[in-house]
Amino acid sequence: MNNFFWIGGALWLDAVNSEWISDGERVDGWRDAASLEAWLRQAGERFGEAEALRDVRLKGGDELLEAAKPLRAALRAACEAAHEERRVPALALAELNAALARRAVMSRLEATADGWREREVLAGQEGVLWLLARSAARSWTGGELSRLKPCANPDCILWFLDTSKNGTRRWCSMQGCGNRHKVTAHYERRKRRVGEAN
Ligand SMILES: [Zn+2]
Repeated sequence: MNNFFWIGGALWLDAVNSEWISDGERVDGWRDAASLEAWLRQAGERFGEAEALRDVRLKGGDELLEAAKPLRAALRAACEAAHEERRVPALALAELNAALARRAVMSRLEATADGWREREVLAGQEGVLWLLARSAARSWTGGELSRLKPCANPDCILWFLDTSKNGTRRWCSMQGCGNRHKVTAHYERRKRRVGEAN
């Protein structure tokens, strides 16, 4: 069973979040073609814009894996740049534009019970990369980078779009880093109180 993080609020961001820290070690959720395939299928279930991935089957998946990792690294570099109010590195942008140039996704018209539906399907494996890059393109042009935040835990490498009303979200999740912070703060307060009592 593959447990991935779906906390970013955008397909492209959760692609970045397919790398995380566990017990101080960096974990790659895309460690092999099978795990990438599992990630893509879950993404297809979660994001309407990625419905073409719902039952994707990677043939010769290693090739796609080798192409997907630099795209993911480019997206992470873009996150870091946006957060530090730097320009997105030219190489990262070039990586994204290369993926956007290979649009192996087509649509199919289907009759449904109450009308018609245009459904996106993969025309080739590269369409996977195109879908990830398109998600970034839509998100960035839609101004979402201004809401991009890294988790406030310095030991965590997850990113998210802060869609809270007051822009006050700090943690990748309240169950994860948010809770750890609460527990640490609690023990530190208690330690201080015990220290004062002595
Ligand atoms: Zn976190």
